[in-house]
Amino acid sequence: MEETEYRGHVVVIPYPSQGHINPLLQFAKRLASKGVKATIATTRYTLKSICTANVGVEPISDGFDESGFAQAKNVDLFLKSFKANGSRTLSELIQKFQDSGSPVSCVVYDSFLPWALDVAKQHGIYGAPFFTNSATVSHIFCLIHHGKLSLPLKLETTPLIIPGLPPLNFPDLPSFLKLPESYPAYLAMKLSQFSNLDMADWIFSNTFEELEAEEARSISKLWPAKLIGPMVPAAYLDGRIEDDKGYGASLWEPFSDDCIKWLETKPPKTVVYVSFGSMVSLTLEEMEEIVWGLKESGLHFLWVVKESEQDKLPDGFVDSTKEKGLIVSWCNQLEILENQAIGCFVTHCGWNSTLEGLSLGVPMVGVPKWADQLTDAKFVEEIWGVGLRAKEDDKGVVRKEELVMCLKEVMEGERSQQIKKNASKWRELAKKAVSEGGSSDKNINEFVQHLVQKDRQ
Ligand code: UDP
Repeated sequence: MEETEYRGHVVVIPYPSQGHINPLLQFAKRLASKGVKATIATTRYTLKSICTANVGVEPISDGFDESGFAQAKNVDLFLKSFKANGSRTLSELIQKFQDSGSPVSCVVYDSFLPWALDVAKQHGIYGAPFFTNSATVSHIFCLIHHGKLSLPLKLETTPLIIPGLPPLNFPDLPSFLKLPESYPAYLAMKLSQFSNLDMADWIFSNTFEELEAEEARSISKLWPAKLIGPMVPAAYLDGRIEDDKGYGASLWEPFSDDCIKWLETKPPKTVVYVSFGSMVSLTLEEMEEIVWGLKESGLHFLWVVKESEQDKLPDGFVDSTKEKGLIVSWCNQLEILENQAIGCFVTHCGWNSTLEGLSLGVPMVGVPKWADQLTDAKFVEEIWGVGLRAKEDDKGVVRKEELVMCLKEVMEGERSQQIKKNASKWRELAKKAVSEGGSSDKNINEFVQHLVQKDRQ
């Protein structure tokens, strides 16, 4: 702990998926390390996946207490139910804390859940959304919400020139914006993030000045966000939170020991780590191209194939490749990325995975599938120079030849030295941002200071 003085009480509410629980829980831990009482309030179904010291855990309800979204089966229904049940149970929780002498000073909520701000305001306390996408992606959605860009974004109008952002080509644009009818409920949710920001007391974004200063600053009138990232466990960055080697949340059982034992037998920087995060589902064709690409590359690989995806692997593949590869259904990604044997991260470019790759200095091959991943992959290759984006063919599939080419280039090709140099540079900048006196650290301290002043009033 940096400070031990009691400094207000913040209730943090994530959207209940792995890629959202992780950064919000990390923020709660960061606040706790600065003397703030932090409570994470999450849906009953995800409650048991969270295990962390120094942060309280309390249930709220999305109306599907047994298995969450899987029980609802329908995005629209799930979101409506979460809003109704979440508002009610959050309000009860705030009241419970009030009655028990531990009043809540601020609700920090996932920006996907703007109703949490209404609840905070009904109780007369601060409310602050936490954006889990890049500033660039938030910038684009914010413009759309304010009618400054209209949908769908079309090929004919690309490259899209937006002040403060690099020119965006068609493949770089978030998929929802090119095909607004593809996931209407998700699109509506992503736009609703901006619906009541004028009532918010702070806006937090999981990125950092050095990474996306201009992208954030150029929209600061509409989206005055405080950049506080990367929200990655402290052991990999500044080390100022004791024993902070993992997020402390896992919706699936990680096979960490198997992975680490296997990696220990491999020489430094020779293994490709492959993961598509928690949500992506590949087609059979996409899966096969990766299978044969990895095989043809001749490289060692550790591949996370979620249980729900494993029947897409060709028969006998797991056994036939035992020499070269290990396939697990889930792992502790940070422990893997940190391992000396890892030379490259094949990633879907979810924002957390992207920040983790950057923070741990691991060169990346982006194989984005949908949503904001497409934009993140552009930055990985073109703006930060920490990897390559594998190009899709006309059918939208990354072929094995392309994957092999990217792997070879990142691991040992002409651009490899520069990519590794850039990866080390970003690692240092990420560390600096959250270390004492760093840009993100200062922004978090300012917030904590405000809570203290409010408590003293
Ligand atoms: N992750 C993990 N183990 C795995 C795969 C992923 O712990 O085997 C974590 C990863 O470290 C990241 C999160 O799951 O923090 C995924 O978030 P991201 O934004 O990258 O992608 P999403 O799952 O939201 O698409």
